[in-house]
Amino acid sequence: MECIFCKIIKGEVPSFKVYEDEKVFAFMDINPINDGHMLVIPKTHAENLFEIEESDFLAVMSVVRRLSLAIRRVLGPDGMNLMQLNGEAAGQVVPHLHVHIVPRWGGDGKGICEWELVPGDRDKIKGLSKRIQEAL
Ligand code: 5GP
Ligand code: ZN
Repeated sequence: MECIFCKIIKGEVPSFKVYEDEKVFAFMDINPINDGHMLVIPKTHAENLFEIEESDFLAVMSVVRRLSLAIRRVLGPDGMNLMQLNGEAAGQVVPHLHVHIVPRWGGDGKGICEWELVPGDRDKIKGLSKRIQEAL
């Protein structure tokens, strides 16, 4: 069965579209965390960050920025989260890359990005930084 977000791009599944250009499509999330919760996706299907072409990803992020500014003008939130999940282990449900724009208000209690800060092992952190740098 074809991807639900590809169907939304083609108009085969209805959505509240906010923006569309040659490479990018943006629409309102049907289960909004807060007012203004929006999804920005590439028109060319790519499951996640590891599969998408760089030019498509940059096009998506450029639109994310513009839409974030528009949402801020309209809704005046206190803050905003951008979220982009890759893989089931990261909580991704729909396997077509998407960036969530989630407006936030102080005390909205939505529990996004509220992990506990626990100091890590310095040697381990240093070792990983080197290994990743070498892999660039
Ligand atoms: P994630 O894959 O990042 O966990 O989240 C998928 C997001 O897509 C969820 O926030 C969910 O509400 C949204 N979503 C799933 N199916 C549809 C749909 O058919 N229409 C719209 N507008 N949003 C959807
Ligand atoms: Zn798709």
